[in-house]
Amino acid sequence: MLKIGIVGLGLIGGSLAVDLRSHDDIEVLGISHKLETCRQAEQQEIVDRAILLLNNGLSDEAQVNSLKDLDILFICTPIDLIIPTLKLFIEKDYLAPKTIVTDVGSVKNCIVKKASQLWDNFIGGHPMAGTEESGISAARANLFQNATYVFTPTKKTNETNLNILKNIAKNKLGSRVYECSPETHDRAVALISHAPVMISAALIKTCISENNEEVLKAAKQLASSGFRDTSRVGGGNPELGLMMAKNNRENVLRSLKQYQANLTEIIEAIEQEKWSDRENEKNLKKLLESTQRSRPDFLS
Ligand code: NAP
Repeated sequence: MLKIGIVGLGLIGGSLAVDLRSHDDIEVLGISHKLETCRQAEQQEIVDRAILLLNNGLSDEAQVNSLKDLDILFICTPIDLIIPTLKLFIEKDYLAPKTIVTDVGSVKNCIVKKASQLWDNFIGGHPMAGTEESGISAARANLFQNATYVFTPTKKTNETNLNILKNIAKNKLGSRVYECSPETHDRAVALISHAPVMISAALIKTCISENNEEVLKAAKQLASSGFRDTSRVGGGNPELGLMMAKNNRENVLRSLKQYQANLTEIIEAIEQEKWSDRENEKNLKKLLESTQRSRPDFLS
């Protein structure tokens, strides 16, 4: 029986628990900072058992053996609490040396750097799946099915432990496993996830900056699927955008500056467009043809 602990029973932690617990050879121990969440997780059979872990440690120190027994610990708290949570486990001596610790944080470099210094058997991870909901009520089965689960090993990473996590992601969650360095992960997610949130927010701001009342009213009425697609990520939870800007600042700025340069290129192409001048028209056309060709490479 594989014993898996999950700290932070929200959308990601709760959904991981549901899928992992559905396998007969896995036992899931939920760990939450709220009694109410522990109760809900047990009542809804999201976990086999849940225990309360407060900021200063277990509410009942007799539970320590359940933690010492764990083969794997997933840390699924908000990003800012991942390192403090790991520190708490180590300071309180709650983990057996063999326990593999992994996290699900949406940024990797800052977490992996600190966590691997604290715990030899730490491996960073990031399931590329989610919804706009949060908390334990958002937990659902099959969230990770066919999604990419990224692991970000370092030179120090134990290969056997990495394979254990990769097998769980592939065979127990149904995910597609991808491996890259924490640095590559953060640059890539800045491009495809973090910068788009800011770009989409700028688009919404552009619309609400329209000062002609009649045009603004019409725009609200006419907005349809195109606007729904392009504005979705910019209209989400502000905390998520702040988390991205704070924890992946350098990469988000690099992507946004590249975007700014591309936008300037498009603006200039449109400004300079003489629709009768085939040569000039070609610039914008070429650019749009190349983006049309490239988009499927990111979505296959
Ligand atoms: P979430 O639904 O808000 O879940 C986080 C959970 O952490 C909350 O339910 C909260 O429990 C719990 N928590 C807060 N402080 C805690 C503490 N001190 N000790 C134990 N548990 C604590 O958020 P989420 O979307 O699952 O995000 C969790 C992690 O997954 C983040 O690191 C995020 O970067 C990562 N992630 C998110 C997505 C996404 O699309 N949402 C995708 C991939 C990865 P209570 O509700 O009981 O307060």
